[in-house]
Amino acid sequence: MSDSAGIRAIDSHSVHRITSGQVIVDLQSAIKELVENALDAGASTIDVRFQNYGLKAIEVVDNGTGIPSQDYDSIALKHYTSKLSSFDDLTRVLTFGFRGEALSSLCALSDGVTVTTATASDTPMGTILEIDRNGRVKSRNGKVARQRGTTVAVSTLFKPLPVRRKELERNIKREFHKTLNLLYAYALVPCSGDKGVRMTVTNQAEGGRKSVLLKTDGTPSLRSSVTALWGTRALDNIVNLDLSFDVEPDKVAVRRQSQGNPDREKILSSATNVKVQGLVSKFTVGGGRTASDRQFFFINGRPYNPGKVQKAFNEIYRTFNPNQSPFIVADFILPTHVCDINVSPDKRTIFLHSENNLLQALKVRLLIF
Ligand code: ADP
Ligand code: MG
Repeated sequence: MSDSAGIRAIDSHSVHRITSGQVIVDLQSAIKELVENALDAGASTIDVRFQNYGLKAIEVVDNGTGIPSQDYDSIALKHYTSKLSSFDDLTRVLTFGFRGEALSSLCALSDGVTVTTATASDTPMGTILEIDRNGRVKSRNGKVARQRGTTVAVSTLFKPLPVRRKELERNIKREFHKTLNLLYAYALVPCSGDKGVRMTVTNQAEGGRKSVLLKTDGTPSLRSSVTALWGTRALDNIVNLDLSFDVEPDKVAVRRQSQGNPDREKILSSATNVKVQGLVSKFTVGGGRTASDRQFFFINGRPYNPGKVQKAFNEIYRTFNPNQSPFIVADFILPTHVCDINVSPDKRTIFLHSENNLLQALKVRLLIF
């Protein structure tokens, strides 16, 4: 046994590399974080550019607020965020980001991150920041032309983690497909609000050919986004989804969740109104699709892994149309106190209060839909 054996702290650099792996676990989560930052910055145009399907580089270009110069040195430091002012805010988060982990993780997990940004008062000039693995700005050039907005470019994702890099290279087809699927969800997100976002996704192949993979027109209409993404035929047999129902609280869950706090118990004990808005295939034979590839679920405009909710939709649909799957875009509008987005680091698993009661109520509404 060597002299150095025994318990000792691992150096902070290694800790950072390990924990960064929890937010950015694959190509999909890297893209998700960058697109969410663009949406949080109020962008109305977002370009997502892949080089060699993301193996070489990924770049997200937005026309949002830009980053003010006093923030340059801290944007990529761990737990720096401009979005949350106090811990209380965690119960009612309206922005996608609030943990300040994405940029610092991308720096730790890639071969380099370059941020080009300009605020309204900076334009027509912008600044290029090159950021090192520890999130420190290693060079800054304030003399580039840039309209208002921010570009974040990440090269060779997972280079510092050889095993994960190999995995990405080996599975790139599947990883890219998964990523593109999430981008479809983000291309539909803003339609539940009142402003549209023009999203364009391109890939530059190794040989140099660039192809457009997805494009929306930026109008705030869900139907026109669906048409832009999949063509006019995509709206055949599709009707508006518009449900509103109350969900009774689950008494056991209320007790567990309120942890003896009477105010919280009171809030959680009353019935919750849930609205479900979007588009769905007609509940008739022949009204659906042969595959369940176009099903997108959101909670308050945030894409999420639906699990049981998706299962409930498909189950009920198949009682009407046993051999097909519905097209679904479903945005669940609920008060923020009944959903917890802090369950998983990627915020895609969302805890729903009284989920079983919600599922029951949903199924009943879908049956009479
Ligand atoms: P979070 O989104 O949780 O705040 P991030 O690591 O994703 O954390 O980003 C850190 C900070 O960098 C953000 O809070 C924001 O101030 C700034 N930032 C990142 N991307 C953009 C962007 N596209 N436009 C404007 N500001 C950005
Ligand atoms: Mg973020």
